[in-house]
This record gives sequence, C-alpha cells and structure tokens, in this order.
Amino acid sequence: MTTKSTYPLGDYQKLYINGAWVSPTDGATFESINPYDESVITHIAKASQDDALQAVQAARHAFDDGEWCTLSGKERAAYLRAIAAKIHENLEYLAYLEVLDNGKPIDEARWDIADTAGCFEFYAQLAEELDDTAETPVVLSDERFDSVARREAVGVAVAIIPWNYPMLMAAWKVAPALAAGCTMVLKPAEATSMTAIELGRIAEKVGLPKGVLNIVTGFGSELGDVLTTHPDVDKVAFTGSVPVGKHIMQKAASNVKNLSLELGGKSAFVVFDDSDIEQAVEWILFGIFWNQGQVCSATSRLLIQNGIYDKLMDRLVAEAKNIRMGSGLDIGVKLGPLVNEKQYRSVLSAINKAQADGIHMATGGKADFVKGYFVAPTIFTDVPTDHELWTTEVFGPVLAVRRFDDEAEAIRLANDSQFGLAAAVMSADDARCQRVARAFCAGIVWINCSQPTFTEAPWGGYKQSGIGRELGEWGLNNYLETKQITRYHSQQAW
Ligand code: NAD
Repeated sequence: MTTKSTYPLGDYQKLYINGAWVSPTDGATFESINPYDESVITHIAKASQDDALQAVQAARHAFDDGEWCTLSGKERAAYLRAIAAKIHENLEYLAYLEVLDNGKPIDEARWDIADTAGCFEFYAQLAEELDDTAETPVVLSDERFDSVARREAVGVAVAIIPWNYPMLMAAWKVAPALAAGCTMVLKPAEATSMTAIELGRIAEKVGLPKGVLNIVTGFGSELGDVLTTHPDVDKVAFTGSVPVGKHIMQKAASNVKNLSLELGGKSAFVVFDDSDIEQAVEWILFGIFWNQGQVCSATSRLLIQNGIYDKLMDRLVAEAKNIRMGSGLDIGVKLGPLVNEKQYRSVLSAINKAQADGIHMATGGKADFVKGYFVAPTIFTDVPTDHELWTTEVFGPVLAVRRFDDEAEAIRLANDSQFGLAAAVMSADDARCQRVARAFCAGIVWINCSQPTFTEAPWGGYKQSGIGRELGEWGLNNYLETKQITRYHSQQAW
C-alpha cells in the first residue's frame, strides 16, 4: 500500500536570488532522477558561475546595506519561527519530495522534516537570547581598563550540503546562520534540490528580506570554486565527502575564510558480552541500515566480544534478511534505494571487491529489483583491519564485523581510523560504558544506542571527519565572530 501516490510538483527551474525567482543566465537545467524507478521527476535550474556570483553579491548587499543588519535577535527569531511553522504546515508534501528525490522511507522523511522545523525553532530561541548574551564583560588584570567580548555575525556565509538529509542539512546551516544575523548562499546537492527550492518559497512567503537567503541549484564541480573563493564570502560551511572537503579547505585558504567542515566517517559500535541481544540487534541495524546506510555517523564497523559473538551474529543476520525493501512511499518499507546510480555503483563495487578478496559475506549484496538503485542489507564478517571495507567509508547499507577479546582491544580497534565522527558502546556495565565512551576518539559517542541526534547537542568529528561543531550553541557560534572592545577609563598616564 502506498501512502499517497502523487502531489503536484512545483517549478524547480528557477534560482532564488535577491528575493526573486530567476532563470539561470544560460537557461540550463538538469534532470532529477527518482532512485526507485529511474524515472525523471522534474528538471532543476542549473546555475552558472555568473548566477553564483549574483547570489554572493545579493547576500553581500543584504548584509552590508539591507534591513537585515538593523534587526534585533528577537526580530530575526520571528522569521525563523515563521519558517518553522510553514515547514510544519507542509510536512507531508516536503516529506513526499524527499522520498522522490532521495528514495528514503516516508516515515524517515517525515521525521527529517519535523526535525528541520525543530531546528528553525531551536535557533529562533538562540537568536532571541543573543540580544542579551551577545556582550559579556571580561575581567582584566589591569583595573585602568574595562573590556567586553561581543559576538557579531560573521557576514556572508556559503552553505554547501549533501543529499542524504536534503532539507535537514540545509536547516543545520541556514537556521543558525540567520539566527546569528548572517546572510547566506545555499547550494544543495545536485541529486536532491527540490526541498531546498521549497525552502526558498517558504522564505519568500514569510517575507524574509531580499538577499538574506539565496539558493543556487547546480553542480558543485562548476559552482564550488566561485562560492568558496569569492572575496565577498566570509564563511564557508560544508557537509560532504572528505576529498571535496579538502579541496574546499584549500580554496577557502585563498583569503583565509572562516570554515566549518562536516565530513565522512567509519564509526565503530562496540558490543560487550553482557549486552541484551535483542537490544543490540535493534541498535546495530538502526546504526547501519537507517537511511540505507547513507549516514555520515553510521556505525559501519561492528566489534563484538567473543562470548556473545555467535548468538548475536545469528540474530543480526536473520533480522537483516527480514528488512523490507521497496518504494519509500510504500507503508512498511524500511529500506529504499540508494540515492543515485553513482552511489549505487560505488557501493556495489565495494561489496564486489570485498567478495573478490575472499571476505565472508553473511548476507546481502545486489538486491533483486528490475529497476532502481537497491542494495540489500549487507554484512561481512572477520574483515581484516587493513582491508578498505574496514578503513574507508562505503556510505551504503554495508556492515563490517570483527570480534574482540577485551576492552583494551576494542578501544584500540575502534580508534584505529583516519576518521573520528562517531562511536557507540553497549554493555550492562555502566562504568565500563562511561570509561569506553571517554576513551573513544570521536566527536559523538552513544551509550547503549546508535544514531539518536538532538538539535541541542554538538555534532561534528575528530581527525578527518571535519572541523568545528554544528547544532546547539556550537552551531550558532559557527556564524559568529568575537570582538574585544577594551576601554581605558583611568585618569592616570599610561
Ligand atoms: P560530495 O562531497 O560529493 O558533495 C557534497 C556537496 O559538495 C554537494 O552539494 C556537491 O555539489 C558539492 N561539491 C562537489 N564538488 C565540489 C567542489 N569541487 N567544490 C565545492 N562543492 C562541491 O558528497 P556527497 O556524495 O553529496 O555526500 C556524501 C558524503 O558526505 C559522505 O562522504 C558523507 O560521509 C558525507 N556527509 C557527512 C555528514 C556529516 O555530518 N559529517 C553528513 C552527510 C554527509
């Protein structure tokens, strides 16, 4: 049974620049493909470098000369709340668009859209508080001076985002940037542009001042360098792959831009002997197969202590085989297709390579669908620590498993990675969980669960998983500069 077969689609062939919907300068579009049946959903405006320049100029003008910079935090918060309300109002439609574009199951899409609205509400609150907290006194060692630390908007921010949570990833950057008082150019991933354009429509409906949020759809390889090197851009916030993150870092160095990066991961889930088997199975499956495994924090390396290994693996493989695949719009489907053909080929090639190298596949592989980019929930066991299946990100529904003897070995294996985004530990012994959590080299650590994400808590990685933290007050700080204002108030000669 399908939740809702169709909604009328909007016009996705225009860019949102300076508060107006404009065609790309060269009139180009590109196809958006439904990963479930490989059909063309719609055509999307393909911005040129000129369009990207105009978007940057609009954001610059809005920051320097527009009414935005005259607004208080409370006034900015009102816009953020109005955006959240419109997202709530259109939740079903937006979730439907995410399923078409990305392939994810509709319940997950609904969850994402509700979270997107929640993110705007959360940063509305922080924007209001900023009116009172922007300036804090600094106690100096010399009484002839007094000083305040003042937090101010960074300026023009560029957000470049991936396709795995299209609207939510936009919210993680747009909401704190607007809360801080920045203006922004948003470039969504080419695979999933529709909800970003819908965000532009919502911004227009709530009357966000022109130029504050500009949206350019198109290809990162063509627009990226313009957006990340332009001298009028003060800040670049990127979520995506490590190679593109490194490229952006080099480009942004041209004029030392403020930069935050949320990159990939290969996160470990350590399960000790004393864990409840059914709880472990549930969280392990969620940790790797949620969103088809296309999750930067997916716990894609599983470490199981010897005593529980055989029982847990039996249950895990049985449950993985039971996961229902199909159209994200069908009720009861838990695993949709991967986002596009490129990702599908890349995940299948990682699976084929592991099999060719003799690694045991307990279940999974290419799924039996005539059309669509389906990969079955896949589990490999006894994966060598130097094999790429253990060391590199697959970004698909592929779990690599190993056994371990004791706590020290588990920590060593978990931390032996170029990444450090997330890690999880499960045990009935809370003291052990707390100890292991503190020993992990990772920005996000879960105890007795994997993946729950809260707008209030910091999100980001160690090592090659990125720079900086999103969400919570840390996410707001990404878009704020700190200024020292020091006054000499003594009559004494200096
Ligand atoms: P990607 O790096 O290919 O693309 C991400 C974005 O970067 C897209 O908008 C793309 O158009 C743009 N881009 C591509 N080339 C560019 C260039 N030269 N200059 C500027 N921008 C460019 O990544 P993806 O395939 O869309 O997403 C998957 C990757 O993102 C995975 O590696 C995953 O781990 C990572 N990711 C990380 C997080 C996190 O929170 N850390 C969240 C989601 C995804």
